Amino acid sequence: MPAVFEAMEKRSHEEVVFCHDENSGLKAIIAIHDTTIGPALGGCRMYPYSSEADALRDVLRLSRGMTYKASIANLNLGGGKAVILGNSKTGKSELLFRSFGRFVEGLSGRYITAEDVGTSVKDMEWVRMETGYVTGISRALGGSGDPSPVTAYGVYVGMKAAVKKATGKDSLSGLKVAVQGLGHVGYHLCKNLAEDGVTLVVTDVDKDALKRASSEFNAQVVAPDEIYDTDADVYAPCALGATINDDTLNRLKCHIIAGAANNQLETESAHGPRLAEKGILYAPDYAINGGGLINVANELEGYNRDRAFKQTEGIYDTLMRIFTLAEDENIATYIAANRVAEQRMEALSRLKNIYLPRQNPMSKRDHK
Ligand code: NAD
Repeated sequence: MPAVFEAMEKRSHEEVVFCHDENSGLKAIIAIHDTTIGPALGGCRMYPYSSEADALRDVLRLSRGMTYKASIANLNLGGGKAVILGNSKTGKSELLFRSFGRFVEGLSGRYITAEDVGTSVKDMEWVRMETGYVTGISRALGGSGDPSPVTAYGVYVGMKAAVKKATGKDSLSGLKVAVQGLGHVGYHLCKNLAEDGVTLVVTDVDKDALKRASSEFNAQVVAPDEIYDTDADVYAPCALGATINDDTLNRLKCHIIAGAANNQLETESAHGPRLAEKGILYAPDYAINGGGLINVANELEGYNRDRAFKQTEGIYDTLMRIFTLAEDENIATYIAANRVAEQRMEALSRLKNIYLPRQNPMSKRDHK
């Protein structure tokens, strides 16, 4: 039995809920990391973990990440995550997700769920039959649908901030960007970049995705492993995590890293500072790829796509703030990002120092 309280204490988690339902076979863990700024929002992952300890470790790590991601995106949300222990190819059923939905409902809004690795919009529609505390529903049902175009737009404006910081230029025109991964986000990012007159070098393991990018954007195609050696101004990882590691760090020729992938640095404490030493400006992953979270958060207030895009433009200023802090304090940009996120949480936690008398039932706060 893993030492749950010890693990919670280590990263300051508020609440961990173990959910079990014999009828559906559900075994799930919901972790609420921090609700200082608002309810904990984070996706529900379904994965065949090799042990319960692994599942717990993952949900604790991921939920903490969501706290930072929501804070840096200037959302009024905290961080949470759920994991369902099981095989997403063979273990899904209506009953499973509806029983999960009932556990979410039982938390009365302290945790809001969404799709994640191994779960889909369809699964969330089952969850929605049991609880309103779910987001990332299809457009057809009044939800926000695929977040990828918004994520890609956030990466595009974040890249502009990085280019401004590194070169003083306001435009991306004439630059060369190496994009790794042409999936949901990578494709839309290429579209934004091509419209700005960027020269694209792309890679993917999917031949059809490569064909589409080369014909639509006149992109130069390279083999998956060659992307690291590409002589480009910007490297945009939009496929896998941990692509900045001991091997690739010595090969990268870019001046900027700005992409959508999660957990880009294999080891933050080792590779973050080494990028700075090499003179590469790194746009911290969870700050630049927050458009998707901003998109689903918008759904909570009644989805408006234009508003989601507009709010995502804030990523430019956030990155500028991170870059300036990193420069002023001579710290790696990922550390600066953590500080900016923590400063907001700290400042907002003090809001509660202002005493509010019992709420009028018609006041704005009670309607939220
Ligand atoms: P996706 O699965 O649609 O696309 C990933 C692409 O990468 C696929 O085309 C795949 O073939 C390609 N790929 C896989 N292995 C590769 C390799 N070795 N070399 C080159 N290409 C490879 O995923 P996505 O939704 O576009 O997300 C991309 C990344 O961004 C992921 O890391 C994801 O976690 C992160 N992210 C996505 C969103 C979002 O809104 N979709 C939000 C935040 C973060």
